[in-house]
Amino acid sequence: HLPTAELQALDAAHHMHPFTTNNELAAKGARIITRADGVYLTDSEGNHIMDGMAGLWCVNIGYGRGELADVAARQMRELPFYNTFFMTSHAPVIALAAKIAELAPAHLNHVFFAGSGSEANDTNIRMVRTYWTQKGKPSKSIIISRKNAYHGSSVGSGSLGGMTPMHAQGGLPIPDIHHIDQPNWWAEGGSATPEDFGLQRAQELEKAILELGEDRVAAFIAEPIQGAGGVIVPPSTYWPEIQRICDKYEILLIADEVICGFGRTGEWFGSTTVGIKPDIMTIAKGLSSGYQPIGGSIVSDEVAEVMNACEFNHGYTYSGHPVASAVALENLRIMEDESLLDHVRNVAAPALAEMWHGLGDHPMVGETKIVGMMASLALTPDKDSRAKFAADAGTAGYMTRERSFANNLIMRHVYDRMVISPPLIITPEEITEMGKRARTALDESYAQIKE
Ligand code: PLP
Repeated sequence: HLPTAELQALDAAHHMHPFTTNNELAAKGARIITRADGVYLTDSEGNHIMDGMAGLWCVNIGYGRGELADVAARQMRELPFYNTFFMTSHAPVIALAAKIAELAPAHLNHVFFAGSGSEANDTNIRMVRTYWTQKGKPSKSIIISRKNAYHGSSVGSGSLGGMTPMHAQGGLPIPDIHHIDQPNWWAEGGSATPEDFGLQRAQELEKAILELGEDRVAAFIAEPIQGAGGVIVPPSTYWPEIQRICDKYEILLIADEVICGFGRTGEWFGSTTVGIKPDIMTIAKGLSSGYQPIGGSIVSDEVAEVMNACEFNHGYTYSGHPVASAVALENLRIMEDESLLDHVRNVAAPALAEMWHGLGDHPMVGETKIVGMMASLALTPDKDSRAKFAADAGTAGYMTRERSFANNLIMRHVYDRMVISPPLIITPEEITEMGKRARTALDESYAQIKE
């Protein structure tokens, strides 16, 4: 390995980072991560950093599982690549598709693979439009999504997303994507009760369908629990109403399970946690615990029956990549054999909830929210009025993230919400340690803000 300073200089000279102001990074120098084990990362200076984000919400089984490396090496020797385009297939992708169908809700039995969540959501855009065309309703092409949602960075998935800074760059959204408001009671609920607010926000879907025309709306897409938007947990009234509306107007429901899937909410899928019956689920991240890039769309029997009757002119070189498929399958084997969902439900999630809600007594912390192993807290100068910081939105969050990083805990911020999503294998002792570091970060940023 080169010395840290040299790596940082090369990084700044040649590597353009995603979602980063690269000049700012060059001035500071990237922190170089060299190894990882369990829930800990090690940097090039020998610091041990607790990864409260499981990478990017993905390393569900934790770092350092040699079994996955062994499976990858074996698969690379045997069949490193073959495509699935022209009437060919291979054992790893077949086994993985069958396993996913087994784990998914009973009516979802078909998988279209991709290399990432963004690609899978691009697949979904084309799939739902093709589905309605095949059914003789080509005018049904509008997909309704939500403001502040994140569904990926490609032109299609970035359009589904509702993040204005993303739309401002590169001419998004593409035509026939419509965004409604999100069910974020803390920030936008005003004086309504959370239940009334959840209902109001769900009914925006009905209003949009009636305005746009029932015959023009193809699908609604949302995460069961919005992740990158700030772990926004919808009020309990929200999802039942959305399901009712989708059923009433024959709108396909796409659940983006890229974060919520594979144990994050304490079930295999977040759709089960919130009690919905999607027609399509987007998957990625936890499918392979991030050890290999792989994503896909899990498709209902009804949609697959229509799609399978035509040639879908769509696919990626790495759709069903054999190495990624073999690694994903091994990841799922480990999750099942080690009863990881039981660990989440009985051990990790209760301990995380206790620690996280405990931070609620901090003077700067408003609501604390948690579902399974994804959690958020709102930073506020006044808990009672749910006020926002007067400074630029995100400053308090940014400062807290920086103090957290300095205290060797990766915690993310979305404007002035702090979020965590640790590896599912985390122990109660590690959660206690995480709580200490998070509190120190909050104390330090609070002291800075008061100055
Ligand atoms: N959908 C959701 C809900 C996500 O959180 C993400 C990534 O964070 C994506 C889609 C895009 O996945 P990828 O980064 O693998 O393209």
